[in-house]
Amino acid sequence: MNDRYERVDVPTGGEPVAVSDADANELDVPDDPIVPIIHGDGTGAEVGPAAQRVLDEAAEASGREIHWMRVYAGESARERYGANLPDETVTALEEFRVGIKGPLTTPVGAGFRSLNVALRTRLDLYANVRPATYLDGVPSPRRDPGELDVVVFRENTEDVYAGVEWEAGTEEAERVREFVEDEMGEEGLLHDGPAGFGVKPISEFGTKRLVREAIDYALDRDRDLVTLVHKGNIMKFTEGGFRDWGYEVAEDEYGEEVITEDTLWEVRDGEVPDDAVVVNDRIADNMLQQLLTRTDEYDVLAMPNLNGDYLSDAAAAQTGSLGISPGINVGDGRALAEPVHGSAPRYAGQDKVNPTAMIRSGALLFEYLGWDDAADAVDTALRAQIESGRVTYDIERNLDGGERLGTSEFATEVAERIAARSST
Ligand code: NAP
Repeated sequence: MNDRYERVDVPTGGEPVAVSDADANELDVPDDPIVPIIHGDGTGAEVGPAAQRVLDEAAEASGREIHWMRVYAGESARERYGANLPDETVTALEEFRVGIKGPLTTPVGAGFRSLNVALRTRLDLYANVRPATYLDGVPSPRRDPGELDVVVFRENTEDVYAGVEWEAGTEEAERVREFVEDEMGEEGLLHDGPAGFGVKPISEFGTKRLVREAIDYALDRDRDLVTLVHKGNIMKFTEGGFRDWGYEVAEDEYGEEVITEDTLWEVRDGEVPDDAVVVNDRIADNMLQQLLTRTDEYDVLAMPNLNGDYLSDAAAAQTGSLGISPGINVGDGRALAEPVHGSAPRYAGQDKVNPTAMIRSGALLFEYLGWDDAADAVDTALRAQIESGRVTYDIERNLDGGERLGTSEFATEVAERIAARSST
């Protein structure tokens, strides 16, 4: 392995996670898997190792061992290898099927394109899954934060993530203007003077595989409702297409298991069979307010990329802190877990930010591997730690009588809770 993986810290043991020949989604998971990890930029350098400590303890408590393979992207890759994203990093994530990453910084305006987008598109991780569930004891801006229990499925390869843009004043932008005005007949639509242009592709293929993933998740986890969130009243052929193709999946592929809201009221008088999932839709701006006003009516939310970005941060804020919100990017037979938050550069090097989001992202990866017992051990220890009031700044600042811990101290205490529980 060493000769193929020059710019990687190759582990000495462990077995790769594999897929079965018959089904690209069926994983063969050893008890000692090799798991690539990118610590991330800024505060990623702190939450990455902190999460590893907790995840190692949970794996050990469930009779397993993770063989970490440190791979590089962003600042650490530039420092070591003079490259933003060495090929070996992508190859390792492809070959070993699963991985976890901390946040990576993306410059606004000029500079390189997002490495997060590059990773998600190169690995075809088409669903970004972001559960927003409340943890008892975290001060939240909501009166009744326990009502929030939604899972956002955000399309991960199209829409703004296609990244097709032309800068104002360039020859390319002028050619796009000419095309729109002369060839497409939209004369008088654009203001004179410099303008940037972007393309927002939303395809039947990209939409249907994302919506399928959301419906399958709802069926597997006994969830009742999948809501398609779109802005199809204005963007009829992109966001409206998402809505229509989403309903097609629901109506054509699942038989009696899935009911659309129309059928529900027209044919069934609102009666939902116990093991069925209902699919409905909401316009994105309405959804953002309904998540605050009718929180407990929502469950699994499926949407194009940009809606998902806004909505998952808004949902995360309702749980009390971005520092506790996990995520996982999923493709066919591969997954890359990562927290919702960014690199929070203003706190870098202070051993201050909350590693919970990164730790919970690891727990989502455990669930993906079928290690539900290890995921439960992480969840139980985190909840107990937060209820003890010994927490990081983001929670402590709104907590009466809490005690402020640093990133590493918090993670160590969570790991100790897992160890103590497993030895009893
Ligand atoms: P951010 O890094 O998420 O930080 C925004 C604020 O969220 C922080 O100032 C802090 O709020 C809170 N926060 C974030 N992480 C936290 C943690 N672990 N514990 C406690 N609080 C936390 O967003 P940003 O400042 O807009 O973005 C910084 C960089 O990250 C950008 O380059 C952006 O492109 C990148 N980014 C990367 C990813 C990714 O890698 N997937 C995702 C989003 C953004 P308070 O100061 O109020 O405490």
